Amino acid sequence: MATFRKIGILTSGGDAPGMNACVKAVVNKAYALGIEVVGIRGGYAGLIRGDLIPLTQQSVSNVIGTGGTFLYSSRCPEFATEEGMRVAVEICKKNQIDAMICIGGDGTFRGATDLTFHGIPSIGLPGTIDNDITATDYTIGLDTSINTTVNMIDCLRDTCESHARINVVEVMGRHCGQIALYAAIASGAVAVAIPERPFDEAAALDKIRALRKNGKRGMIVVVAEGLTNPDGSPYAETLTKRIEEYTGISTRFARFAHVVRGGNPTVRDRTTASDMASRAVELLVEGKSNVVMCELDGEIRDVDIAFALIADRMYKNKLKDGDLDRFSADELDSMRALIAKRNREIDRLYQVAADVGF
Ligand code: ADP
Repeated sequence: MATFRKIGILTSGGDAPGMNACVKAVVNKAYALGIEVVGIRGGYAGLIRGDLIPLTQQSVSNVIGTGGTFLYSSRCPEFATEEGMRVAVEICKKNQIDAMICIGGDGTFRGATDLTFHGIPSIGLPGTIDNDITATDYTIGLDTSINTTVNMIDCLRDTCESHARINVVEVMGRHCGQIALYAAIASGAVAVAIPERPFDEAAALDKIRALRKNGKRGMIVVVAEGLTNPDGSPYAETLTKRIEEYTGISTRFARFAHVVRGGNPTVRDRTTASDMASRAVELLVEGKSNVVMCELDGEIRDVDIAFALIADRMYKNKLKDGDLDRFSADELDSMRALIAKRNREIDRLYQVAADVGF
């Protein structure tokens, strides 16, 4: 069993509601095991700068329900360089940081792997609102962002109904349309477009025209930001114009963007964050690292980071030569099973949205 005296923790990349709940859980669990915790401010950039603050149970006593990340976040390309890594490891050693917990998305996990291979055992926690990590069914922040999105759509729907108007809403999700799908179902959107599936624009336009003919006044259309025109411009804005041209109905556009990253985390995000974070501390103490905490079929499990990253590339059809070489046939089967599960989930949600969206 490893004897850790001090764990470092940071939040990195895109922020997500529930990151603070992770930090609180790590601190409380670690102290219960007699381990100190130090916070690194501003993600990997803060590690390179040596921007460290000791975290006590007192200092995290009121953060479980707060949004954003009180440790701050950043993107830090320098961390992916040899020199950046050398400085980061030196800072860890100088400050007696024996292990790290890194909260973020896939980029953050790449950093955690690099740290592990440079002698600082690290574990990743999936804090990212768009649920775009294939190896886990759930990422911390998704539930809050969906609820925020739906609350905002509800407000738009009121005014759309008053004025017999359509509102196209662009929501976050570059590679993964789950925010769009959940939001569309929960808000009764008449159409939803996501990056993972072809969008039948002609059918959507006909449906909107038919609904209006039958007396429907306000309508909502949800589009994930990852859907773009061939020139890379946002498809949601194009669709707004086409709906108005085709149907003659006044159609507005709204981009929710970063607003749905904020806000107090829901109970789901607070509990999943606490569960994953507490388990991560236990695993470090058991001598395990280079894993990301995942929720699979309702259970919290640890998954090898390399496996998680490559499963993601497989899902996104972005595999590079040699990516699969280091995995056994069983592991490759597990990746394919995860991808099949994800595809079933997307298909199911897409179908529900199509069936009930009126
Ligand atoms: P996210 O973690 O939300 O996916 P990013 O992709 O921006 O966000 O990654 C967060 C940070 O992780 C980056 O700014 C960088 O410091 C670090 N990182 C990303 N890729 C690598 C890599 N290949 N090696 C080491 N660190 C990386």
